[in-house]
Amino acid sequence: MADYDTVLIRFGELSTKGKNRKDFINRLYGNVKYMLRDFEKLEYRKAYDRIYIRLNGEDHDAIREKLQKVFGISSFSFTEKVPSDIDSISDACFRIASQSNKKTFKIITKRHDKTFPMRSDEINRACAGRILRNTELKVDVHEPELAIRVEVHRDDTYITSEKIPGAGGYPAGINGKVLLLLSGGIDSPVAAYQLMKRGLQVEAIHFASPPYTSEAAKNKVLTLASMVSEYQGHMHVHMINFTDLQLNIYKTAGDPYAVTLMRRMMFRLAERTAEKYDCLALGTGESIGQVASQTLESVACINSVVRIPVIRPLVCYDKVEIIDLARKIGTYETSILPFEDCCTIFDPKNPVTKPTVEKSEYFEKMFDYEKLIDEAMNAMETVIVTPEKNDEDFL
Ligand code: ATP
Ligand code: MG
Repeated sequence: MADYDTVLIRFGELSTKGKNRKDFINRLYGNVKYMLRDFEKLEYRKAYDRIYIRLNGEDHDAIREKLQKVFGISSFSFTEKVPSDIDSISDACFRIASQSNKKTFKIITKRHDKTFPMRSDEINRACAGRILRNTELKVDVHEPELAIRVEVHRDDTYITSEKIPGAGGYPAGINGKVLLLLSGGIDSPVAAYQLMKRGLQVEAIHFASPPYTSEAAKNKVLTLASMVSEYQGHMHVHMINFTDLQLNIYKTAGDPYAVTLMRRMMFRLAERTAEKYDCLALGTGESIGQVASQTLESVACINSVVRIPVIRPLVCYDKVEIIDLARKIGTYETSILPFEDCCTIFDPKNPVTKPTVEKSEYFEKMFDYEKLIDEAMNAMETVIVTPEKNDEDFL
């Protein structure tokens, strides 16, 4: 094992320049530090195009796992930091090569400091020559088993044989706030992850219908929120009591239109909540065609009650793709716990697949839903969850 003492974090070519770039780096720097908050010995430094973390003996594998969750990182490497002089650089390359059991190699040098007295290919040749003379390794420039990367900066040079892909995207929170309709299902936690990956700060709104929905169902939602909050640090979850609206809908509209009307009410409440908390868009876990309420006709009919933009990150995903992502982010097992949701509890037998706005409005005129929306808004409760909160805290 090479003597890797420093993590080097790359954020690739940003299209954003100037102040945006500064905000990007500052936010990323804060998010990285937050993600690694349990490793007390780490020392951080940020530069124009890199973030450096001195490991001071902290555990590599644990840090690798955490860093792979930070949005805005294009790749990172565990590196050996040496002074920027050719002898030190060559020594480090040689150490890595001689400790490896690979057969072919290549040196890839990038000079960030153009005042370094040797050009990149001269550095490559100097380091490779020594390896060729003293080990069995052969050069393969096309598909080397061992790629030794050398990044020359003004004072220090970073050397590594691995480049770990980052999560990509933008640092969570840099692009404004969105209000996500969060159910206890599989899809909406995945939507939260996708929205955060675009750099959005996600707040959540959940509709519960006690006593028809249980405390356990509510806690499941908070647990899911806590799980995905890891990607942005914490999450505000606004809890809406939906019982009265739901009962009225069933009383007036009955079976086929119940789901359409429920979802129109959810959107109205969500838009009001978004305005209250300065969220510029709503988000949902909807995917076209998945269920009756997600046909194009349903989406249009439901969407027509709000003016705020609605972002649906999963709109073109297949269920299997969504499940794969849910497994990857660790929410799947919790999502499939069999707790009732306000949508499943009054599960209509024949939901309309092509609802119309006219018919929806006809039913909605039959009860004073504005008053019920006001009441639900006034009774809203907000819970702030963090990644530290796990199941036991809610159950
Ligand atoms: P999910 O797995 O996210 O529950 P789904 O495939 O079960 O999605 P629906 O139940 O029709 O589909 O819900 C579609 C979207 O509506 C959800 O992804 C979520 O954004 C929102 N939603 C549904 N029920 C609720 C709820 N009780 N509270 C908040 N949002 C909800
Ligand atoms: Mg659902």
